[in-house]
Amino acid sequence: MIAIYVLIDALGWQYLKDKKFLDDILPHRLPMRTVLGFSSGAIPTILTGVPPSVTGHWNLFYFDPKGSPFRWLKYFSFLPDAVLDNRYSRKIIKELGRRVLGMGSLFECSVSPRYLPWFNYVEKKNIYDHGGISGAKSIFDDLQAAGIAHKIYSYHHLTDAEIINHALEDLANNKTSFFFLYLSEMDMFLHMNCKDPAKVEERLQWYDGQLRRVYAEAKKHDPSASMTVISDHGMTPIENHFDLVKQVNDLGLKQLSDYLVVYDSTMARFWFFNENARERIQERLASLSCGRILSDDELKSLGIYFSDRRFGELVFLLNPGWLTSESDFNGSGKGWMPKGMHGYHPEDPYSDAIFLSSSAPPFAVLALADVYPCMRKAAGLPLAEPGVRRTS
Ligand SMILES: [Zn+2]
Repeated sequence: MIAIYVLIDALGWQYLKDKKFLDDILPHRLPMRTVLGFSSGAIPTILTGVPPSVTGHWNLFYFDPKGSPFRWLKYFSFLPDAVLDNRYSRKIIKELGRRVLGMGSLFECSVSPRYLPWFNYVEKKNIYDHGGISGAKSIFDDLQAAGIAHKIYSYHHLTDAEIINHALEDLANNKTSFFFLYLSEMDMFLHMNCKDPAKVEERLQWYDGQLRRVYAEAKKHDPSASMTVISDHGMTPIENHFDLVKQVNDLGLKQLSDYLVVYDSTMARFWFFNENARERIQERLASLSCGRILSDDELKSLGIYFSDRRFGELVFLLNPGWLTSESDFNGSGKGWMPKGMHGYHPEDPYSDAIFLSSSAPPFAVLALADVYPCMRKAAGLPLAEPGVRRTS
């Protein structure tokens, strides 16, 4: 039996809940609660059914000064930022990471080279490959073990249109029963255009038409073929900017001797090297109204608590719609002004992902982890234990 799963990055429930988007062929429609963080944490949870605290995949960089593949960069720490941290140095490190240091072909240098020697990188393997997720078996491992013919289209060098065409060809060849299409372009589109309903509508219609073709081709070879369209998170319109970096810098503490921080678009993660730094940063963050410090209990209920604190001793999360005005996020660099962002608390309605299916799911799908058992069932495998469920 042919089963097709399509993951459209960042297509949030808010953008199609009232739309006709594929509703005649995918009548089973639900919002799904996302995993706090970015795709690097959310997609491994979709593929394994377990939270980041089990997969080990949350943010891409984690604190690991002993194991860091970038330790050698310490010898360049005498260089001023103008030399050590610019577009060219980051490009060189990106290429070295990909070609020499075994960081995988998608490695991006999104942390300042000055601080890289304290960090390791989660996605050394391609998460779509067999054995690609460090802490758990993925659906692709299950399919391989069961000898079920499957195709995974996740290449970041193929456009969404090319992926659709490859899938159509492979469907026509009729040798594969499980298809997983990862379509990545919607993410950047919504970052830039989420506030323009006409453009969003036009884009949705393109996906509607293309996915209709895929489903029709599958039905030609197998009248009982099923298709499910999911996403990993939504996209929240940005309303406010806040210079979090300045707030922390104004304390006059020194990175590396007092603390270490990684700023992403919607969160800051800190490690402390003395109690004074911990207290003063905590106090400053607690005084800000643009976001809040996440408690351990909350990290646990969100499935992102790590007892060794590799992803941060303290996580400060911005409120939905707020953005740090200066961010290392994804090496996009300064001057990138997106209209939308993701990576907020999963309770934010704009953060909800989607689950749209041609067939009724085997149980109430509530959160990303529930996709994994659905994929197993669609592939003809026994239903595994549903993963972590909505916690509130
Ligand atoms: Zn994005």
